[in-house]
Amino acid sequence: MTILRFAPLVALIALHACDRPDPPAIRAAPDTNAAAPPPIAPEDTIVVDSDLTFEEAIAGLDFPEEIRETLVLIDVTYRGFDDSTHRGQILVRRDLAPDLEAIFAELYEARFPIEKVRPIVHYGWNDDASMADNNTTCFHYRRKTGGRTLSDHAYGRAIDVNPWQNPLVRRSRSYPAGASYDPTAKGAIARGSIVEEAFRKRGWRWGGRWRRSKDYQHFYKR
Ligand SMILES: [Zn+2]
Repeated sequence: MTILRFAPLVALIALHACDRPDPPAIRAAPDTNAAAPPPIAPEDTIVVDSDLTFEEAIAGLDFPEEIRETLVLIDVTYRGFDDSTHRGQILVRRDLAPDLEAIFAELYEARFPIEKVRPIVHYGWNDDASMADNNTTCFHYRRKTGGRTLSDHAYGRAIDVNPWQNPLVRRSRSYPAGASYDPTAKGAIARGSIVEEAFRKRGWRWGGRWRRSKDYQHFYKR
């Protein structure tokens, strides 16, 4: 394994779980048209949050070629907090890309809001900056927070969703700093919600169910 040049960044990855009821904010919109599900918005109305090439998405990071070969960059569509249709990008392990594409399609149809989805290169490979911007992101070559072993993010097999509404909470500290978890908040992930279910049924596990620390933003599949 090569040296982790960006490892000193305070990474957060962890373990979690929660105990609240489903949030009213996470539900299918009333179907007043009684027709087919709403189509993806016309191309000219989509807000583009990220539009990189693969090379741009991994630029500036020193990490093993054998991991690079497993990654792909996918486009995903989602409802922003402004209720507009947004398009972002995710660096993910190739064999998990179909899962994320299907999950994002489900969340789009359910109108679950996601603020932005940008490869972390947009933040200079700085997790704190990415989280503070409420960015949803997957691949980053780094260690687990406070640990020596690589995070699941380092293999492109974990994704953090809306970190500001779904912080990592460990020993009375939260990451991003100042964030708090309210499962009824817009963009929050609640136990048993459509978001957890979309991941769970495809074999992903949720840090919101960890016994001690809780990582409400974190889903992973091994
Ligand atoms: Zn994570």
